[in-house]
Amino acid sequence: MDQTSGRSTGPPARASNNVRPRVVIVGGGFAGVATAKRLRRANVDVVLIDKRNHQIFQPLLYQVATAVLAPSDIAAPLRQLTEVQPNLTVQMAEVIGIDVESRTIRAQLSDAAAFDVPFDFLVLAPGATPTYFGHDGFAENAPGLKTLSDAEVIRSKILKAYELAEVAPDSADRRRLTTFVIVGGGPTGVELAATIAQLARVTLRRDFRRIDPGQTQIVLLEGGKRILPSFDEDLASAARRQLNRLGVMVRTGAVAEAIDDRGVIVAGQLLPTATVIWAAGVAASRLSAQVGAQTDRAGRALVGLNLETSPGSGVFVIGDAASVLENGKAVPGVAQGALQQGDYVGKVIAARVAEGSEPAPFHYRDKGSMAVVGKDFALLEAPGVRMRGRLAWLVWAFIHIGFLPQLQNRLRVGVQWLWSYYTGQRGSRLITEGPSNLRRPDRLAEGPAPGSTTVGPGTRVELAAQPVERAP
Ligand SMILES: Cc1cc2nc3c(=O)[nH]c(=O)nc-3n(C[C@H](O)[C@H](O)[C@H](O)COP(=O)(O)OP(=O)(O)OC[C@H]3O[C@@H](n4cnc5c(N)ncnc54)[C@H](O)[C@@H]3O)c2cc1C
Repeated sequence: MDQTSGRSTGPPARASNNVRPRVVIVGGGFAGVATAKRLRRANVDVVLIDKRNHQIFQPLLYQVATAVLAPSDIAAPLRQLTEVQPNLTVQMAEVIGIDVESRTIRAQLSDAAAFDVPFDFLVLAPGATPTYFGHDGFAENAPGLKTLSDAEVIRSKILKAYELAEVAPDSADRRRLTTFVIVGGGPTGVELAATIAQLARVTLRRDFRRIDPGQTQIVLLEGGKRILPSFDEDLASAARRQLNRLGVMVRTGAVAEAIDDRGVIVAGQLLPTATVIWAAGVAASRLSAQVGAQTDRAGRALVGLNLETSPGSGVFVIGDAASVLENGKAVPGVAQGALQQGDYVGKVIAARVAEGSEPAPFHYRDKGSMAVVGKDFALLEAPGVRMRGRLAWLVWAFIHIGFLPQLQNRLRVGVQWLWSYYTGQRGSRLITEGPSNLRRPDRLAEGPAPGSTTVGPGTRVELAAQPVERAP
């Protein structure tokens, strides 16, 4: 029992009779792990709590969603961090409440009893989740991309759409099933659209008998005036041209007004599709509102340049969960921002515990932004540098391999990329949903006859090879 709160205190119990200050880090993403690592030699006990047992390299999630990479290629178990850091305990649990007054967080793992963890310092780094801007009903038909399971759902949806198209009896249905709509023209939307185009036109080109994946329609919807608004206009225009070359239709000023299982309504018109992917925006974790700081429109806690909710509170918010202004400019919600903030907070806590002088206020070092638009083409924008094309793509590839969490991730991704580059094949073309989810009960009322399957009432589709007319 925790004497201060009177509530039961579950794992991790190791620090309860320990006199060292306890630092609780919520979230084992870029920001949280950077804080934990920076505290490696500090005289503190560090408890890192995450609802998942692994860290994800989110910049490559779209490659899992499009079957280039397998989930394990871009993830690393958080518990492995404890092997090299004796003052670190990792706990898998979802943090469900924060009580700043009693300095405890409440966490729970599945159906097990909730438990409290007292803290001396709290580092809140739970990141963000996709937001549907008040249209939460869209989520059912338009999954967002944030976790490995999201990526697997999207991958299954894309590959399943081709399987269903192969047995669809009428051309309108085939067209709908081989139309993919991505909502949001930021880097994730652009990367997804380009990679789906390559999947369709290169990888799957000769894999079907009744449909031609080369005829796939890919539509990228962006509500604003242009795609990639965070990039220089010339670079964004070059990306748009490259998308057009890949056969992606880019529609700007186009807002998804409604999304259901028939497709997307844009400008009052139905765009028929079975696959919509949401890449339009993120909102901070709801935990950001529980630490006594004001929040912005995206739910991020407003913190000053020491990243603390108030000076000396010992409660820090970092990464995508925080809104930080430096000279009136927002620190961007990107991996570099999260890494640098995590490292900075680690230094502040270490200095405070050692009663040394604290570091100067946080300063974001902009190392640039990148977006990849298919094979051999990327954009790179950094202070004093603007690049596009193959060289930028090579820089992108080396940087991303270098930042993957473990050596084995780097080796696996390197090999997989080389294989895909030269063969056009993808290593992870798996539909992981069970066969019952593949069936559409409304359409498969009758059992299939040998050699054929019944797709609509009374409609029979021969599964024997039928050459399709392919685009040259
Ligand atoms: C698809 C995608 C592509 C991206 N591409 C790029 C890119 O190319 N370049 C770039 O710089 N940035 C990119 N980003 C942004 C970048 O990934 C984020 O800015 C960065 O991950 C933020 O780090 P973080 O530590 O704040 O949050 P995250 O990395 O999201 O980590 C948050 C952690 O908190 C955990 N968590 C959340 N809630 C709880 C809870 N209640 N209890 C316990 N644990 C919890 C989560 O499981 C997660 O592990 C991309 C993001 C996405 C989603």
